[in-house]
This record gives sequence, C-alpha cells and structure tokens, in this order.
Amino acid sequence: MCGVFGAFSPRNFVAEEVYLGLSALQHRGQESAGVAWIDENRRVNVVKGMGLVYEALSQSVLAETPAKSAIGHVRYSTAGGSMLQNAQPICANYAQGPVAIAHNGNLTNFESLRDTLENRGAIFQSTSDTEAILQLLAHQPQRRPFEALMRALAEARGAYSLVVLLEEGLVAARDPWGFRPLSLGRRGDNYYVASESCAFSLLGASFVRDVEPGEVILINERGVTSYRLPLESKKKWLCSFEYVYFARPDSMIEGRSVYRARQEMGRKLAQVETANDVDFVASLPDSGTTAALGFSAESGLPFEAAVVRNRYVGRTFIQPTQKVRELGVRIKLSPSPDLFRNRSAVLVDDSIVRGTTAGLVVAMIRECRAKALHLRISSPPVRFPCFYGIDTPSSVDLAAAKYSLDDIARTVGADSLRYLTREAMIEAIGLPPDSLCTACFDGQYLGGEDASASCGGNCGKIFD
Ligand code: 5GP
Ligand code: SF4
Ligand code: MG
Repeated sequence: MCGVFGAFSPRNFVAEEVYLGLSALQHRGQESAGVAWIDENRRVNVVKGMGLVYEALSQSVLAETPAKSAIGHVRYSTAGGSMLQNAQPICANYAQGPVAIAHNGNLTNFESLRDTLENRGAIFQSTSDTEAILQLLAHQPQRRPFEALMRALAEARGAYSLVVLLEEGLVAARDPWGFRPLSLGRRGDNYYVASESCAFSLLGASFVRDVEPGEVILINERGVTSYRLPLESKKKWLCSFEYVYFARPDSMIEGRSVYRARQEMGRKLAQVETANDVDFVASLPDSGTTAALGFSAESGLPFEAAVVRNRYVGRTFIQPTQKVRELGVRIKLSPSPDLFRNRSAVLVDDSIVRGTTAGLVVAMIRECRAKALHLRISSPPVRFPCFYGIDTPSSVDLAAAKYSLDDIARTVGADSLRYLTREAMIEAIGLPPDSLCTACFDGQYLGGEDASASCGGNCGKIFD
C-alpha cells in the first residue's frame, strides 16, 4: 500500500504542495518518500529518502524548486524490501523526453510483462512492478509519451492508481477494476490528484471527483481531458479494506465517507451479539476507534478510551520479525489498569491478521485483572492473502486461515470473539456488492473474464 500525489499549476511552484499532500497521505506508507518534477531543461529530477515525509524530504528546498507540475509517493514497507532503490517516483529521461511514475497497487501480470520486456532487451533496474510500466512506455520510442503510456496501461493487469509526469502534462490513471482509490481536487486553476481526498483539505483545495476505474486524465495548460483505457470490466473491485482500515476516516471514497462506513461497521458488529454484563466498550487505537464508537452508539454501552496509544511510535504490523512486532505492540499500546480492573469490556479492533496485536493487548489487559474481555472485529476473518497492493501475508501467517474462531479466541485469551460478516461489511460500506473487492475475506480473486476484461480488440498492440 502506498500513497500518491500530483499537482499542476499554470503559474506557481507546486513541489512544496506535493510535500504537503504526501504528509496528509503519510498513513498510507512510512518507509520512504519522494518527489519528482521536470526542470526547465526538460529533464526529470527526483528527491527521495527513507522514513517519514519530513525525514526523507526537505520542505524548504522543495518550496524553492521551480516546478509547475510535480508528483510524489509515500511507500508502504513490505518485510525485507525496505531500501532506497525501491522508493518512488521512478524516473527516466528516454528518447521521447522525461517521465516520472508514482504507483499505488500491484500488477498481477508483472512477471510475464518482465519476461516479455527482457526478451526484447530491457534491463530492469529494480524488482518493482512499477518499472514494467516505465519499460513498456520506453519501448515505444516512436510514439508520443502520453499515447505510449495509454498503450502500456492496456497491457497491465491488477491494481494501479498512478500519477505520471510527462512533458505533455500531469497524468492520473486508475486501473479498469478500480482497486485503489484516486481522486481529483482543485483550487482555482491548480489541479491536484491524490490517493485520498483528505490530502486536498490541507492545501485549501476542494474535492472534485474520483478518477473513474479505467479513466486516464491529462492535466496541462489546456485544462483537464479525460480518456478511457481500451479495457472494461463490468464488475468493479474497489478494495473494501480501504474502508476497514487503510484510508483516513476523513476521506471520501466513491462518495462514501470512510468514517461513516467504519462507524456503521461498528453498529452492525454490535447487532451480531453483545455479551451480557459488559461495563464498557474500548478500542485498539487508532484503527479500531471509529468502529468502537459505532458499537457504543448501537449497544448503549459507554465508550472508554481505555487503551492508550503511544503516538510517537510508528506501525508495528510491518516490522520484519515476529519478535520485533511483539515488542512494537507493547511499546505502542497500553491498557489503563484502573479502567479494566474488575470490569468487563468489549474490545473492538478493525482486523486480525496474524493475531499479534490482539493476543498481546488481551494479555496486557488480563494483567490489569479485568473481569471479562470480549473481542469484536469490525471486518470478516482475513483468510486469504492480497495480491493487489496490501502486504497481508501468505495464508500460513493468517490466523483465521489456520485456526477456527474458537481457537483464535482461546489463543488470544478472549472470553469471546465475534467478527462482522462479509454481507454486513458490504452493507456498512454502502456500495453495491459487485463494486467491491473482498478477496482477502472470501478468496474471490480477479479471474476469468474480469482479469482480461474486454479490450474491444485494441489492447496487446505494443509488441505485434
Ligand atoms: P495482527 O497484529 O493481527 O497481525 O494485525 C492486526 C492489526 O494490524 C490491526 O490492529 C490492524 O489495525 C492492523 N492491520 C491490519 N492490516 C494491516 C495492514 O495491511 N498494514 C498495517 N500496517 N496494519 C494492518
Ligand atoms: Fe483489498 Fe483484500 Fe481485495 Fe486486497 S484482497 S484489494 S486488501 S479487499
Ligand atoms: Mg490496528
């Protein structure tokens, strides 16, 4: 998972605005950050660094960088892959000029694309699937970059929400299945593209609309022009986990407020079953809090901020070893002994993946001598890995893939454990079931007709 941001202005320098936009998308990736722009010599420039936006990039340098158009990226760590050469945007100055790409998502046909490209002489500089898009583009030196990009995207399968910088302008593109969110914002005649709408508020820009699945938008001095990729999928595949966990609650995705969806998940979770004699509802902050508030509203049980999050430590999920993850959870979350002692609580979290977080926090709450602890999860059991850009581990590491729910409850030490059903989650999101991806919950991956979509005979033309 990553965050992408792009800005275009007919007059002003925008590199600093990209820095600010990335800061608002920091929750989508903490491993590295980068900003790219095209200079007056028609060369693409990039600055990248490891860590959070403010650690990786210099705001004051970007503020003085003359660029009317720039893009940026925050990268989400995958275990072992944390290094500067995987940082984005990825850039090149090729036969037709400068290009920079920032990508959120994961191409499912990357390996076959790489094989084809390597057989044609491409030399890959990284292990990143995003590079395949760049190589596909560069392998069409006879075409203008925008047209080459459109044709390159017609070859790609899987998840991509992209911002691309070309001499022809700033480009926003979303795959025909619509896995990852991407939205368009505006302030006067400045335009912005962001993974999530929460990034616009910081810049005083307003949300215009979502980039549609299969849409490619070109923004330049002539304005905003919308194009369609030559592929269409009837079913859409917007990631339901964005509403469960990933996106910021103040974002709107497909017209649905992430906050409201999460609150509704909590309400529906309370309808599943509330244990008897419960004194209060608590959450695992921050990810479980909005759902816990919905649970509290529906059940009438008071919400208590009884687990405290140390806000100076980052995410624990992504740490490479189990030992480091466990230590991370202990440093990050602490229950208030006074609130739990001799009382019964419902504890709400958004998801259980490996079971590390829930197991450790429940153990810590037990040490506070709680009377009873009922764990409630505001999404269905995660049983399958994600191939579309979220680093949920292979099934062997997924608690719900290996164990029954009773076994998970016993292992984490909860008196009871309930999950939201897939149907209730979809209802809470409020979008039609055939517009969402739920593959990590039900194993229904993009396949068959959807995978190839319908290209009207126009795709696959690069190499013929
Ligand atoms: P577990 O500790 O069970 O492996 O992971 C569950 C916890 O990690 C939950 O509190 C949830 O908020 C968070 N989480 C779930 N999925 C992801 C993910 O893809 N990335 C990150 N960083 N955290 C996640
Ligand atoms: Fe999102 Fe799960 Fe689908 Fe991955 S598999 S895109 S996490 S819903
Ligand atoms: Mg969490």
